Amino acid sequence: MSEVARIMEEWSCIYELRWLERRRLRSPSALESRNPIRELLESLNVPPSHGKEKISLAQGDPTVFGHLRAPQAAVDAMVAATESCMFNGYTHSAGSQECRMAVADYHSPSLPFKLSANDICITVGCSQAIQLCIAALATPGANMLLPRPGFPIYETFCKYYGVQCRYYDLIPDKDWEIDLDEVTILMDANTVAWIVCNPSNPCGSVYKYQHLAKIAAVAEKQRVPIISDEIYAEMVFGGNDFIPLASFSPKVPVLTVGGVSKRWLVPGWRLGWIIVADPKGILAKARVMEALMRLVQMTIGTSTLSQAAISGLLLHTPSEFYDDTLKSLKAGAELCYRRVQCITGLDCPTFPQGAMYIMVKINPGAFEGLSSDVEFASLLAEEESVLVLPGAAFGIANWIRVVFATPQNLLEEAWDRIELFCLRHSLQH
Ligand SMILES: *Cc1c(COP(=O)(O)O)cnc(C)c1O
Repeated sequence: MSEVARIMEEWSCIYELRWLERRRLRSPSALESRNPIRELLESLNVPPSHGKEKISLAQGDPTVFGHLRAPQAAVDAMVAATESCMFNGYTHSAGSQECRMAVADYHSPSLPFKLSANDICITVGCSQAIQLCIAALATPGANMLLPRPGFPIYETFCKYYGVQCRYYDLIPDKDWEIDLDEVTILMDANTVAWIVCNPSNPCGSVYKYQHLAKIAAVAEKQRVPIISDEIYAEMVFGGNDFIPLASFSPKVPVLTVGGVSKRWLVPGWRLGWIIVADPKGILAKARVMEALMRLVQMTIGTSTLSQAAISGLLLHTPSEFYDDTLKSLKAGAELCYRRVQCITGLDCPTFPQGAMYIMVKINPGAFEGLSSDVEFASLLAEEESVLVLPGAAFGIANWIRVVFATPQNLLEEAWDRIELFCLRHSLQH
């Protein structure tokens, strides 16, 4: 290294040090934020092992295999919106009037009251809808109730906004219903929201009317508003109808979060919504809607093209599209359920009723050298190039989550490999 280069390098080190010493150029809350699913998926880079192609049953994106495709009506609406050049500017931060109205009109028929555009806030996917609801309700010292197992970004956002997380259990042998006694015990004067996910990621469960009525009754008695994650609304195929929690909202205020990502197979469009179901004006008096408005004004909403395409997507998607998607999901669920029954050491207490996930229980005692779900998932990836998420990502030990929005032949192939893997590690042979 030349003398000049050496001095320059020395100087640049000192220069950087000065910056770091003078200014604390990092945000601890940002660096401590974690989304375990994204972290796992974006770090899993499995080389094809023993010539086996990677099969991912890990990511909750129904579009990855290409066998499920967005409704043509939605694609046409997006093309028309783009070509018109009428949607290239900013909109209202909470979404264009047309888009908010379309979401309100779409959901009103299943509720006991009529929604207006002012009850709707359009967001960057359902993820931002969750973020904004948590942010709007976060007060110093507040806690929220989160499902276990549950979608991990609830915790991610709660932690970011300084909200204490309290977990209530879902009971696997009771179709993953909520342990309502536990919920009552967990609630106190500082509980500002109860997060419910139905149909459930990761459980694939769909709550019956009676259970939802009990949830609403508990929330009403304890005076705790509900954040209802209904991104899988209507994605049901197991016999239980989907019922929005907001249909109980005269009793309890409900912030419903949803979007186009899963049911309409366009997660990349980043269009979600918050439906404020608050006919008694409780949240309005607490200025929650106002808080949401201030929050969306910081980022000025989502893509105007996605917003412009929404009426086409909601109004003109033919019923065959939904039927075909559900048929495919049901076939995937049946395949997984059938295969699990034939594998020693694995178990599945309930047939999934909706969404696109099945939770499979592993008995680590049945396998040699596998002491946890994390080890099971990582060794399965290493040896068979089949990716599943460990229960640990959802806060539950000794389960794995399998995505069945997967073409049948690939799903069979994946289960062949899982079966071989289990046999190979079985203690009984
Ligand atoms: C996929 C998913 C979301 C996020 O949806 P986006 O619209 O892609 O942000 C929210 N909640 C649950 C339970 C999900 O599975």
